[in-house]
Amino acid sequence: MPEIKIIGAGLAGSEAALCLAEMGISVNLLEMRPLRMTPAHGTDLAAELVCSNSLKSDLLDTASGLLKEELRLLGSRLLPIARSCAVPAGHALAVDRLLFAQKVTQTLQNHPRIRITRQEVTELPVECSILCAGPLVSDSLARSLQEVVGESQLSFFDAIAPIVSAESIDSAKVYAKDRYDKGEPDYLNCAFTRGEYYRFVDALLEGEQHQAREFENEFFREVDFNYYENCTPIEELARRGRETLRHGVMRPMGLERDGMKPFAVLQLRAENKDRTAFNLVGCQTMLRYPEQQRIFRLIPGLERAEFLRFGSIHRNSYLNAPRVLAPNLTLRNARHIFVAGQLAGVEGYVECMGTGLLVAKIIGEGIGMLPPQTILGQIWRRLIDPEQKNFQPVNANFGILPALDDNVRDKKLKKQLYSKRSLEALRGFLEEDDG
Ligand SMILES: Cc1cc2nc3c(=O)[nH]c(=O)nc-3n(C[C@H](O)[C@H](O)[C@H](O)COP(=O)(O)OP(=O)(O)OC[C@H]3O[C@@H](n4cnc5c(N)ncnc54)[C@H](O)[C@@H]3O)c2cc1C
Repeated sequence: MPEIKIIGAGLAGSEAALCLAEMGISVNLLEMRPLRMTPAHGTDLAAELVCSNSLKSDLLDTASGLLKEELRLLGSRLLPIARSCAVPAGHALAVDRLLFAQKVTQTLQNHPRIRITRQEVTELPVECSILCAGPLVSDSLARSLQEVVGESQLSFFDAIAPIVSAESIDSAKVYAKDRYDKGEPDYLNCAFTRGEYYRFVDALLEGEQHQAREFENEFFREVDFNYYENCTPIEELARRGRETLRHGVMRPMGLERDGMKPFAVLQLRAENKDRTAFNLVGCQTMLRYPEQQRIFRLIPGLERAEFLRFGSIHRNSYLNAPRVLAPNLTLRNARHIFVAGQLAGVEGYVECMGTGLLVAKIIGEGIGMLPPQTILGQIWRRLIDPEQKNFQPVNANFGILPALDDNVRDKKLKKQLYSKRSLEALRGFLEEDDG
C-alpha cells in the first residue's frame, strides 16, 4: 500500500499513525506546529492535551470507561501510553500531560514506518490521506475543505443542548404532542405556569457561566449570534427580555393540553430511535455544569432529570458529518480523504483517539461496521446516518446505545448491563473478524 498522509499530529492523527505503522503501512504525518501554532497548543509535541489532563472515568459502568475498554480491545496505541503516564485521579484516567505528549512524540519518531513533516497543509491533498487537523484547523485548510464540502457544511463553533435520560423524566407531568398536531407526536412537552416560567428565567439570568478561554472570547465577540439564532445560548436569549423565551423557543402555540394553552412550553426531542434519551430543545448554554443541573431541573417534569450530557458552546471546527461523510468516513466529494477526530464531528479526547483508530482499521484492515451495542459503533453510525437532522458533535454517553431488552430500573445495574452487552458483542465481532 502506498504511503498514507495524515494531516495533524493530535490525538486522532497520532493514534491513526501508530496503528497504520503497526499494520505495516508507511505514514507521513504532517504537523504545522511549531511553524504555525494554534491558539490553544503550547508545544510542538504530538497529542498535546490542550485543556484538562483527564481522559475521564475508567469505571466500566460509565460511558467513557466503556469506550476506553472498547478501544483497548480494538488495539489502541495511545491508551497504553496514557496509562504509563497516569497520575492519581480517583476513578478517572488522568495523565501527566507533558510526559504523555513526549512519550507519544518519541514513539512516533522512533517508528521506522513513520516520518514526521513539519508543514502547514493549505489544501486537501490529492493522494489518500487522513484529515485530522482538529477543532482549530488552520484557516487556509478550512477554506480548502469548505470548497469541497460546501461552505455551510463546516461549522466553527458548536452549540450543544443538554441531554437527559428518558427514565428520569416525570411522565405524569410531560405530554407527547407535536406543534399543531402535525404528524406523529414525536416531542415531549414540559408545560410552565406563569410562576414556573419566571422562576426559570430568573435562574437563567443569575446562573454562573463557564469561563471561556481568551481566544474563544475573541472569536465569540466576532460571531453574530443573531445570524446563528439557533446557536444563541439560552441565557443570552433570556437577557434580551423576560418574555423572549416564551415568544421564541418556548412558545406554547399549537401545544395546548386538554384544550388549555400553557404559559410557556419547553420541548424535548428524542435523541435515538429507542427514545431512551431526550434533548432539551433550544437549551444550548454556556452555564457551568452544576448550574445546568440546578436550573434545568426547575423545568416541570425534569425535577429529577439525569443528565447524560451537559450543554456547551465552544470554539470548534467540525463537519456536518451525516451530510458529507460516506460510510467509510471518507468525504463523499473526495473519496480519497478520510476524516477523523474532532473535525469529523466527535467531541472529547478519547472519542478523537477512537475515530483515529477506526479510520486506521478501515484503511489497513477493511474493518466493517462495529456492533450497534458498542459506543464506538454508535458514534460511527451517528457520523454517517443521513437521517440525522440538527447534527451536533457526538460524545460517549449511554443515551446513544439501543435500549436494553430487560426493563431494568436500577441505574447502576443498567449501566453495567450496557457495558457487558457492548463488550460481549465487540469480542464476538473481533473473533469473527479473525476467523
Ligand atoms: C480549547 C479547547 C479545549 C478542549 N478541552 C477538552 C477537554 O478538556 N477534554 C476533552 O475531552 N476534549 C477537549 N477538547 C476537545 C477535543 O477533545 C480536543 O481538542 C482534541 O485534542 C481533539 O483531537 P484532534 O485529534 O481532533 O485534534 P488536535 O488534538 O487538536 O490535533 C490537530 C492537530 O492538527 C494540527 N493542524 C491544524 N491545522 C493544520 C494544518 N493546516 N496543517 C498541519 N497541521 C495542522 C494542529 O496543530 C494539531 O496538532 C477541547 C478543544 C478545544 C479547542
